[in-house]
Amino acid sequence: MKKMLILSSLAALLAGCSNAGEDNADAEQKEKAGTAAQEENQDQNEKKEEQKEQKDQKAAGSKEEEVTYKVNEANWTIQSEESEGDEVLLTFDDAPDGNAVKIAETLAENKVPAIFFVNGMFLKDEEGRNALKRINDMGFAIGNHTTTHASLPDLSEEEQLEELKETDELVKEITGEKPAFFRAPFGQNTSFSDEYVKNNGMIKMNWTYGYDFETEYQNAEALTDITLNTELLTDGANILMHDREWTKEALGPIIEGFNEKGYSFIDPQYIEKE
Ligand SMILES: [Zn+2]
Repeated sequence: MKKMLILSSLAALLAGCSNAGEDNADAEQKEKAGTAAQEENQDQNEKKEEQKEQKDQKAAGSKEEEVTYKVNEANWTIQSEESEGDEVLLTFDDAPDGNAVKIAETLAENKVPAIFFVNGMFLKDEEGRNALKRINDMGFAIGNHTTTHASLPDLSEEEQLEELKETDELVKEITGEKPAFFRAPFGQNTSFSDEYVKNNGMIKMNWTYGYDFETEYQNAEALTDITLNTELLTDGANILMHDREWTKEALGPIIEGFNEKGYSFIDPQYIEKE
């Protein structure tokens, strides 16, 4: 039985850690917006669930598990031959670093799935371990983003192995399962990391677009606007975000904006391995 049928998603790059953007979002307005977004997602997810049930009935006895998406490594979009309507995948990198639990709560309130790409360096104290545990317990997908966020091409194979393996083991120790996804820091995959990912049955993932690491988008309003209105937004967009304060603040309006545009959210649970 799947832990969470509806929820799941993705993540991003290391970015500047300081200069937390302040926004003046009105709490009441945010709450109203959140409620509307939640209702819409519930509707869309109910529809999806119906579709899936129908599909399951058709497929009954033929396949144990329905897998509906693939990562297109040519442009890192997430593609499906079966799903209808426009969809995006949300991913959050460099977690858990202080904002990830709140980000996960906002996603869960809106029934939006996502992937959290974690760094082992954040999983070595009680606070980080508890944060990952909460995120995992809420049903979100977890990805390995290396231990120290090092640039893999600068490391020996032995050092790369340590970066990948240690984080895998920390995640397994905390959640009971190894991460299903891998995203290299700065998107710098190597032949060694490619081999590791393949040998460990993980799904390799870069991203389509992301803005929260650029100085001009480190406030909730600018980040919301660019995320929803960039010309890079397409069906299957694999959206890179980070464990950052301004991202946490922008998330409610971003979800609401995607709903208004008619987008729904891809559940990473249904992304197929190569
Ligand atoms: Zn990163």
